[in-house]
Amino acid sequence: MPATLESFMHEARVAYFSMEMALRSEIPTYSGGLGVLAGDTMRSAADLALPMIGVTLASRAGYFRQEIVDGGQIEHPDVWEPERWTRRLPAKVALPLGEREVWIGAFLYVVEGHRGGTVPVILLDTDLPENHALDRDLTHYLYGGDEAYRLKQEMVLGIGGVRMLGALGLRIRKYHLNEGHAALLTLELLSRLEHSPEQAGSVAARYDVPAVRELCVFTTHTPVEAGHDQFPYELADRFLGSFIEPAELRRFAGQERLNMTRLALNLSEYVNGVAGRHAEVSRRLFPGYRVHAVTNGVHPWTWACDSMRSLFDRHLPHWCYEPELLVRADRIPDGELQQAHAEAKSALLARVRAQAGQALDPALAVLGFARRMTSYKRPDLLFTDIERLKAIARRYPLQIVLAGKAHPHDAGGKQLIEQLHAWARELRDAVPVVFLANYNVELARLLVSGVDVWLNLPLRPREASGTSGMKAALNGIPNLSVPDGWWIEGWEEGITGWAVGSAADADNAGDAASLYDQLEHKVLPLYYTDRGGWTAVMKGAIGRNAAYFNSHRMMRRYAVEAYLR
Ligand SMILES: *Cc1c(COP(=O)(O)O)cnc(C)c1O
Repeated sequence: MPATLESFMHEARVAYFSMEMALRSEIPTYSGGLGVLAGDTMRSAADLALPMIGVTLASRAGYFRQEIVDGGQIEHPDVWEPERWTRRLPAKVALPLGEREVWIGAFLYVVEGHRGGTVPVILLDTDLPENHALDRDLTHYLYGGDEAYRLKQEMVLGIGGVRMLGALGLRIRKYHLNEGHAALLTLELLSRLEHSPEQAGSVAARYDVPAVRELCVFTTHTPVEAGHDQFPYELADRFLGSFIEPAELRRFAGQERLNMTRLALNLSEYVNGVAGRHAEVSRRLFPGYRVHAVTNGVHPWTWACDSMRSLFDRHLPHWCYEPELLVRADRIPDGELQQAHAEAKSALLARVRAQAGQALDPALAVLGFARRMTSYKRPDLLFTDIERLKAIARRYPLQIVLAGKAHPHDAGGKQLIEQLHAWARELRDAVPVVFLANYNVELARLLVSGVDVWLNLPLRPREASGTSGMKAALNGIPNLSVPDGWWIEGWEEGITGWAVGSAADADNAGDAASLYDQLEHKVLPLYYTDRGGWTAVMKGAIGRNAAYFNSHRMMRRYAVEAYLR
């Protein structure tokens, strides 16, 4: 790691705060899409040489490592050693947390871009000898513990993070809150810009709200009320009482409960949702706020498999700096694209053999479904009608690869994993179904390039954006998905992939029927009987989806519309 923190001091930076961040596969400080997006944000910022700095938690025990025993999920700590991948910084800051003061230290990781650009990331850590034993593990378990643990983690991230940037001597021009977890940083900014009671006259006039709003950019990721991060005030007042007047906190964060989304909305001048539909839904959930739409993207170099990288390098040079060039995917000769995909598929099937002991046939279609195992993602939709699935497979053989973790407290999600294993046993002789344990970025990269069709089947409008389908498209894998999140924008029937159900609301049974119909009448016949037609859809996915749904485009938009305003 060449760069030192001093090399980042010369200019004011945009500080990007995220509870989780997928920096590299050896650093398991992420649980899923939110963290992968944060990592891709940092990687694109480095490629584009944007003056940014990331702030996250060290999460030494990671999210968790998933083991599957008898079809059920078992969770293990996913421990990593910050000392091995990062450099400890000399600064420490203190944070009053209830009855004790907690010291926060920091590690520096440097994200390196293609053309020499670099972005520093600060990982906050309370595992310091000066801390009380009970506080040392505050930054260990991503999304772990109870409500109080979570609130304290968010205080470390938001308030501790701002203090740490100050202690390190960094100048910050904007604060970007990636989801509500970081919203408490606004309290630290309010108190920094606070007027004295004599100056202000009233409590409300003490806080310079316009100045704080001017500094903050907020990206919301949650399309349903219940999904928003909230804390009861009995808890919040105990820990936050010394940071802000309780009445003022309620003015900014809601009267009933401390709602992190509301706090962030009220104190950020620029607010956005992560896809067009998601911004609309957010405006309905929170009337009166101006919510922009910046559709998510994925980092091109990170998510293209090796064979696609060299294919694009040959035919579309500079694609990884300027992914718009992928729009010329039709210049790629069919045979070379098929060959690049065959290599990716064979890498995935080798992994399936090694990890699950199952031999899949490279000549037959593979459907992929991998995401957080939770009910709204509907991993069960494909198995709604087992007999119909078998009947389709008799005409058009198909194989299914699944992966995904359920949050340790999500009983429904864990049950889904057990059900998937039961269906896999039931289908054994008709449709090979493989569940690969421990979905992470390394496995994701194999999956999104090695299957033939990528499925996403969320209950509308719960998928704010979704990004795994974009990774698939980049590798020439068409999506067969519910038009929700990004797919509403990326879907062109038969050109970039196919829809399941309609963009309007639909029921589970209707969506399942549509999924089977699409497989039986469009997707699989094309796959087996029209190789040229299939390759054209692969090119459609690259040229019409990947050229647009990438994090370079996303960061250029944030830079121009949010950071430079
Ligand atoms: C991309 C990715 C996700 C997010 O995918 P969705 O389509 O949003 O579900 C989650 N986990 C991992 C490991 C990923 O790489």
